Amino acid sequence: MTKYIFVTGGVVSSLGKGIAAASLASILESRGINVTLMKLDPYINVDPGTMSPFQHGEVFVTSDGAETDLDLGHYERFISAKMNKNNNFTTGKIYDSVIKKERLGEYSGQTVQVIPHVTDEIKLFIEKGSAGHQIAIIEIGGTVGDIESLPFLEAARQMSVSLGKNNVCYIHLTLLPFLNSSGEYKTKPTQHSVKELRQIGIQPDILLCRSQKEISEDEKRKIALFTNVDYSAVISAIDVDSIYKIPLLLNEQNLDEIVLKTLGSQADPPDLNDWKEIIKKQENCVESIKIAIIGKYTDLKDSYISLNEALSHAGLDSSAEVNVEHIDSELLEKDIGLLRTNQYDGILIPGGFGNRGIEGKISAIKFARESNIPFLGICLGMQLAVVEYCRNVLNLKKAHSTEFDSDNDFPIIALISEWTDDKGEIHERTINSPLGSSMRLGNYKSKLIKNSKIFESYKNEFITERHRHRYEVNNSLLDNFENTDLLISGKSSRGNLCESIEIKSHPWFIGVQFHPEFNSTPRNPNPLFLSFIKSCISEKVL
Ligand code: GLN
Repeated sequence: MTKYIFVTGGVVSSLGKGIAAASLASILESRGINVTLMKLDPYINVDPGTMSPFQHGEVFVTSDGAETDLDLGHYERFISAKMNKNNNFTTGKIYDSVIKKERLGEYSGQTVQVIPHVTDEIKLFIEKGSAGHQIAIIEIGGTVGDIESLPFLEAARQMSVSLGKNNVCYIHLTLLPFLNSSGEYKTKPTQHSVKELRQIGIQPDILLCRSQKEISEDEKRKIALFTNVDYSAVISAIDVDSIYKIPLLLNEQNLDEIVLKTLGSQADPPDLNDWKEIIKKQENCVESIKIAIIGKYTDLKDSYISLNEALSHAGLDSSAEVNVEHIDSELLEKDIGLLRTNQYDGILIPGGFGNRGIEGKISAIKFARESNIPFLGICLGMQLAVVEYCRNVLNLKKAHSTEFDSDNDFPIIALISEWTDDKGEIHERTINSPLGSSMRLGNYKSKLIKNSKIFESYKNEFITERHRHRYEVNNSLLDNFENTDLLISGKSSRGNLCESIEIKSHPWFIGVQFHPEFNSTPRNPNPLFLSFIKSCISEKVL
């Protein structure tokens, strides 16, 4: 039977519940426990697929094609188990399911209510996502006290009643603000937040207290006394310069042991050598490179989180610190001087949607191509690299994607109207299809051309990467690239969609239709990023 750890947050949002939960999971995994993680989001969207990265950060795509919360990316970077569509659900998804059941008459004439019907549905989803695992860590989004998260918290409370105390553990993450005027950490917001939790029937077993520096024994004692949490279970989670230090930090304070004790479980001793190794690499970099990521969502750090992580994972393998600068592509529309003066070692155009800043991205691609600067184009980045090549090398000045110009004369990028998935199922789309989860999503196989740079990177003819796109290189216009410097280096294993391109005469210029960043972990960096970073180092202007 699965045992559950619920992780809630208090005082303020963005305390790093996801990273704390993932770090705990990684310690438990190193102790031989089969652990999984789930994220419960209290908003009404059915999934974050239609939400702007400006507001919500990156949309993380799982291998089975679910568009999920970015915390699932942290989970995959910290533990070896892969996430799937059952590891993240929202209030919207729960209500969608309840309403469908109601329409089918499954509630036999009952009045459908938040308690018990919505809470029962939440419990069903939790059980489904946790099946087959010894421990499931369930992160509840939002902050305790929000109206939205109440049904989730109520379901979490009920699970302890129905499964028994020894099968459920509650961890609450809070903030201890430091007041300069009095020179001390304030515990009152934590006391209030726990009071709020207790009012809904949940007594936390463990507190993770976020603070800038270590908190004193006295402060810990005070928190323990006023929150009814055991002194040893008041854990200090201080700010650190690398998220990969957190498993070690939590283990030093016996978090894993306290959790296991609460759950009445035993396990092997932890082995955290992988994390120690990663930190050692981070602290002993001998190289430093500067990469420009040219995108639209540059204001919110979380918008390109998997990308930033993938670059830094690959850097570690070459003992290089990767400094990423995010540049708003609109700034490059009139003048790309910024790229010239800053002398970047590599240029990356990530995935994206919508018209804003497109011409700036195309100018940056032209600059990378002509100046022999290593270039990686991901999804939209690849599509625009193809547009740039048509316009500036093949002199097809009107070339564009129909996403931005629906009746242009040379639609080199166009809507995918039909594709076959790896199971042989045919998917059809039109311009009028609804936006929600209507893309080509998740794992698809590509076949790479031998002797191409991408083949050299992966050292494999067949690769599987995650996708998230509606448009593709227009197959009916591919003849234009024959006997040119642009190589279509990878195609889908069925259906012949273009999966990757490269410029043959360039030191390293690759565009991929898929998102390799979702498949990178610090322990297992993605081969394409490894190759990109190596070329940035070797082509570096000294
Ligand atoms: N907007 C493009 C498409 O839908 C690219 C998507 C992406 O970059 N993820 O095909």
